[in-house]
Amino acid sequence: MLRLKHELEPGRAIFGELIEPSPVLTERSSADRIDEVVVTYFAKPHSYTTDDIIEISAHGSPIVLRHIVELALARGARLAEPGEFTMRAFLNGRIDLTQAEAVRDLIDSQTLYQAKVAAQQLEGALSRRLQPMKQKLIELIAVLEAGIDFAEDDISVIPSEEILHRIAAIRGPLEDLAATFAYGKIVHEGLTLAIVGRPNVGKSSLFNQLAERERAIVTATPGTTRDLVSETVAIGGIPVRLVDTAGIRRALDEAESIGIRKSMEAIADADLVLVVFDSSQPLTEEDTELLEQGAKRPAIVVDNKADLSSSQTSVLSCQLPRVRTSAITGEGIGKLRNEILRHIGGETGVQAETGFVTSLRHQSLIREAITALHNAQAAVGDKIPHEMILLDLYNTLRQLDEITGATATDDILNLIFSTFCIGK
Ligand code: GDP
Repeated sequence: MLRLKHELEPGRAIFGELIEPSPVLTERSSADRIDEVVVTYFAKPHSYTTDDIIEISAHGSPIVLRHIVELALARGARLAEPGEFTMRAFLNGRIDLTQAEAVRDLIDSQTLYQAKVAAQQLEGALSRRLQPMKQKLIELIAVLEAGIDFAEDDISVIPSEEILHRIAAIRGPLEDLAATFAYGKIVHEGLTLAIVGRPNVGKSSLFNQLAERERAIVTATPGTTRDLVSETVAIGGIPVRLVDTAGIRRALDEAESIGIRKSMEAIADADLVLVVFDSSQPLTEEDTELLEQGAKRPAIVVDNKADLSSSQTSVLSCQLPRVRTSAITGEGIGKLRNEILRHIGGETGVQAETGFVTSLRHQSLIREAITALHNAQAAVGDKIPHEMILLDLYNTLRQLDEITGATATDDILNLIFSTFCIGK
């Protein structure tokens, strides 16, 4: 039981003691005290879920916390399902589905930048961006619905060009939004960067240089993945999984060809490849082979050991971005990091925008909505009756509504909220 210093008041934190309940009502001694706690009462609708909520904050020993939960359960409470608090907030209409998903992304974020992006979505950035498109769509639907009543007079109330123009005005911004996913996906999932090159060109040294400065601010996951040494670092707030193919040879002492095969695998899995050369040495066949393979993916050529050579490795004809570095002196590492960042940001400068798409669920629905609009455009072109065009427009609306959860089914909701942790 709780012994509080004051009566509970909405929005006020009250100091109190948690007392071990005893079946016999006697004068209690301080030995019955389990912990000092702070109890806060959030009166509805001013709470996370909009229900009446009492929060008990204790000192945090897991054993005490568990005991508090057990005491509450003994008094008839039940444990929340994963994500139940956020689901209630959604079902009670305080937040929409994109905001609920943002809570999960915020909790899962590995870098501050990811957290910032999730916080923008939590604040409704994506929904705000969708709102004007939805508004225009509803207006168009309304006009067409009204026009159907007059169709028997064989007068088209709204000319085809006007309909096409209005659909295009919805589709354009929707296409722009869909295009943000290329960057949003990287923000959300991070990026895999493979470092390839023949032995001793300095791959591991570069790996360490890139990992070094950022290591302290990311959740580092060192270790080997599928025989490849990898570590996740943050570059520009994006989690970047660096894969060093040099580790393979060291670990297994394999023959040259196996080393190359492993490099190929790493290249195939990578979003970006660093092809490293020793700029103090002439190019070898293995160098050119690796360059050819690396160039199949987005790649950056790194002329390492710049401290040992005065000029760039000469005979190399490729269009790839190229950076001179020294993994020993640190020269060019900043430039290399910028080049990686440039790749991450793409050409779109999308980072400056807010409300971009980071979730595959949202992206699929936006794509569906665009397809439905495309069908509507085609139908207008084919002079198909407005009733049929309306079906495509309603379909578009349904996709947009599913993003914000206005029409999400129980299955979808269960799927989303089951990925939350308990207590959120
Ligand atoms: P890896 O086999 O490609 O991973 O190469 P390492 O990173 O193990 O480097 C091989 C050798 O080259 C080591 O002795 C490094 O100290 C050295 N090394 C790596 N990068 C540079 C560099 O930029 N300049 C110089 N002078 N030596 C380097």
